[in-house]
Amino acid sequence: MSTLQLLPEVRAFLSQPGKLFIGGSWQAARDGGDCPVENPADLSIVNTVARAGEADVNDAVAAAKAAFEGPWRQCSAVRRSLLMLRLAELLEQHNEELAQLITLENGKPIANARGEAASAANIIRYFAGWPTKIEGSTVPVSPASGNPMLNYTLREPVGVCALIVPWNFPLTMCVWKLGPVLATGCTAILKPAEQTPLVAIRLVQLVEAAGFPAGVVNLLTGQGSRIGSPLARHPDVDKIAFTGSTEVGRLIAQDATGNMKKVSLELGGKSPNIILPDADIKRAAKGAADGIFYNQGQVCTAGSRLYVHESVLEPVLDELSRHARSHVIGPGLDPATTLGPVVSLRQLNTVQGYLRRGVEEGAELICGGQRPEHLEQGHFIEPSVFLDRQERACVAREEIFGPVLTVMSWSEPEELVARANDSPYGLAAGLWTNDLRAAHRLAAQLKAGSVWINCWNVVDPASPFGGYKQSGWGREMGKNVIDAYTETKSVYVDLA
Ligand code: NAP
Ligand code: MG
Repeated sequence: MSTLQLLPEVRAFLSQPGKLFIGGSWQAARDGGDCPVENPADLSIVNTVARAGEADVNDAVAAAKAAFEGPWRQCSAVRRSLLMLRLAELLEQHNEELAQLITLENGKPIANARGEAASAANIIRYFAGWPTKIEGSTVPVSPASGNPMLNYTLREPVGVCALIVPWNFPLTMCVWKLGPVLATGCTAILKPAEQTPLVAIRLVQLVEAAGFPAGVVNLLTGQGSRIGSPLARHPDVDKIAFTGSTEVGRLIAQDATGNMKKVSLELGGKSPNIILPDADIKRAAKGAADGIFYNQGQVCTAGSRLYVHESVLEPVLDELSRHARSHVIGPGLDPATTLGPVVSLRQLNTVQGYLRRGVEEGAELICGGQRPEHLEQGHFIEPSVFLDRQERACVAREEIFGPVLTVMSWSEPEELVARANDSPYGLAAGLWTNDLRAAHRLAAQLKAGSVWINCWNVVDPASPFGGYKQSGWGREMGKNVIDAYTETKSVYVDLA
């Protein structure tokens, strides 16, 4: 094993405890509390960060409100755009540093972390194009008075936004939400996951370096159980945007009703991936394996239910096992690694619990299921494949959020659609076929916010992303998310 040397900048960053960023100043938590950040590959503590409490929430909300009503409101659209382009450039310049921090705290292979950091720069650059293009319209109204009447609409920023993000894509989840906040002229209080605050701190340092006014972006590290609810209940927070579990999403929606703040939720999934009999089997099986094992399976859109036409079940299972066994499991900082540890002991226990229950409930374990013997230190688990003929086991129905695929076979197309849609979730779905008519017919029938045909996990900042059913409320990215961070005002002018 050859481990990557940490950059001197990263070592310097780790030599200081992480702080909160409130109203343009870096500070400790008011009560002095902190919490450790673990490297999931070896369980070492890489740093500590401030653990915010309710007093810090109040300070951050006040700072975000003052910036929203003050300097940020005065900032022209062109200037917002230029600041965002500068931030994108800084994200690009610091790609390796950001990637190393992501791998240290999340565990993912360094090549994937570099990809994540590169995509963060592209997302901010995409949103930097928006400030000058957020327009209202003129509307042909017909008042009863018969007076000539001018009506036009304005799109105005919603205000102070609380952004609560998870640990699976610790940098891109921040910029998916910060991009539209900055583009629309809102202000933010960013709350990264407890497991992955470091790259969020580095991101906010770059926001500061880009020259955004104080208070536009504030950062609270610490525990969601402590400050999530105070943020979601705060009367001066106008919108809350959350990505994470359906369970916490439900709590946030309840907390938000006090002042009826706007709520966007991007929650879990149990996404069906379908292989038709005519598909290119090798390509489909590789796509299905990547669709579940990528990021150690910790992806909201993971293709965790695979429906394979019975005529091609055997060759697909062979290919899936081959792909699962070909993964190089190890620390993400080893460039040879293709599958890192899962993020935490809790996540490892969850995955192992599902592996046990899957077998108990009658699913057949085709490959994987064990912890690699030579890696007992970190939170490592083999990529695993179940075959569940009855489709009754928990592993066929519940979100695992780990590298565990459950395969089912199908024969009747009508029944297939009902089975694929039989889930409380509706985040993504995919299909593999060369039959154009079958592909578009199925794409129309699947209840999912994203449908991928002969591909998986393609996401682009220009195209909307989000879930049907219990996978969420609203859409991120593209024009849709600009709407979600703005209010529409209708202005009438009597011209009589
Ligand atoms: P989670 O609890 O939903 O955490 C997501 C974010 O919400 C974190 O920043 C968390 O902070 C915060 N949070 C926790 N309790 C909160 C509360 N009461 N009010 C407001 N915010 C709160 O997710 P998790 O516990 O890390 O993972 C559990 C499961 O969630 C996973 O197994 C997976 O199924 C699902 N998940 C889905 C996604 C996704 O992309 N859709 C991402 C991650 C996890 P702390 O980290 O400080 O607790
Ligand atoms: Mg939780």
